[in-house]
Amino acid sequence: MGCDVGPAMLTRNQDGHRVSAADIYLNRARQRPQVQVVCDVLVDRVAIENDQAVGVVLADGTFIAAAEVVVAAGAIHSPAILLRSKIDRPGVGQGLQDHPSAPLTIALAESCSPHELAVTTLARFTSGFEPADLQLLPIDHLGQSSEGYGLLSVALMLTRSRGHIALASSDPLVDPVVSFNLLSDERDIEALSVGVEVARHLLESPSLKRVASEVFIDDVGTPLSALGNSAHEIATWLKSRTGDYVHAAGTCAMGDLANEKAVVDMVGRVYGVKNLRVCDASIFPMLPRANTHFPVMMAAELIADRWLQPE
Ligand SMILES: Cc1cc2nc3c(=O)[nH]c(=O)nc-3n(C[C@H](O)[C@H](O)[C@H](O)COP(=O)(O)OP(=O)(O)OC[C@H]3O[C@@H](n4cnc5c(N)ncnc54)[C@H](O)[C@@H]3O)c2cc1C
Repeated sequence: MGCDVGPAMLTRNQDGHRVSAADIYLNRARQRPQVQVVCDVLVDRVAIENDQAVGVVLADGTFIAAAEVVVAAGAIHSPAILLRSKIDRPGVGQGLQDHPSAPLTIALAESCSPHELAVTTLARFTSGFEPADLQLLPIDHLGQSSEGYGLLSVALMLTRSRGHIALASSDPLVDPVVSFNLLSDERDIEALSVGVEVARHLLESPSLKRVASEVFIDDVGTPLSALGNSAHEIATWLKSRTGDYVHAAGTCAMGDLANEKAVVDMVGRVYGVKNLRVCDASIFPMLPRANTHFPVMMAAELIADRWLQPE
């Protein structure tokens, strides 16, 4: 079984501090005279006249006029903004994906400082069904309230399950309803079960036993040894414990105009509305087999480059 082990793709600088896209891109752009950054405001919807975006309306009713609008509110909120803007594409809010992650809680033989950054390494390997479709993410502390504990997260990086987001209300202050439907496709359960087996095997190795004195399958201290070996038992545990990996994507998917699930074209332009783009994780038609920060940056760089090129 092929396995890559390497440093985790953490968005941090050389001092170990987390670095956001705003730190890298926005701070430089702020210096430009034509850039004005308006903080701490909530966008309600895109204002559309004659099938053309003409600006945005904020939650407090303020209208900001614009020749072009780029919605970049992430895979949960970008489709919510488009839905509130009455964008007429059936794919808006559909196709939601995230990497299903099953947590094993580790009692560490030696606790790590909660002041250090938690993750440093990850392992990528295959279930045997698809290449590089599994990931193990060790986290060596869980914050001050859980000192002495860590996690081994078993993640499925190629997922077929899809969920959706829907508006709970037309009020922008009310969050949309999010249904991830993780593991709704049986093939995802099969592949992730292989990951659990590999994690279990590794945790039984003498070298990891020196680090992980006990391993639990839930928050109430049920030991890993209580998890049976049958496919049914592992699937039942996975269904009860699997969560998302904060890698939501796919709800304003890129694709051909003829594909009714597609919301944007190859450069992020929303079908049916001029001067309106989406540029964030929501445009991925399939969740990449990777942690999502860099893919989002790559998509944004590509869209920005192509924007400047003549048609
Ligand atoms: C805690 C955490 C840790 C992560 N760590 C990593 C990591 O180490 N490596 C990695 O590869 N990936 C990581 N990810 C995933 C990665 O950060 C995301 O995939 C990526 O940021 C998605 O980019 P985005 O532009 O789609 O959305 P976001 O980065 O979520 O940006 C959307 C922005 O829009 C704003 N917004 C939303 N709605 C509105 C509205 N109505 N009006 C105005 N503004 C709005 C939000 O406040 C947010 O600032 C992490 C995610 C989380 C949550």
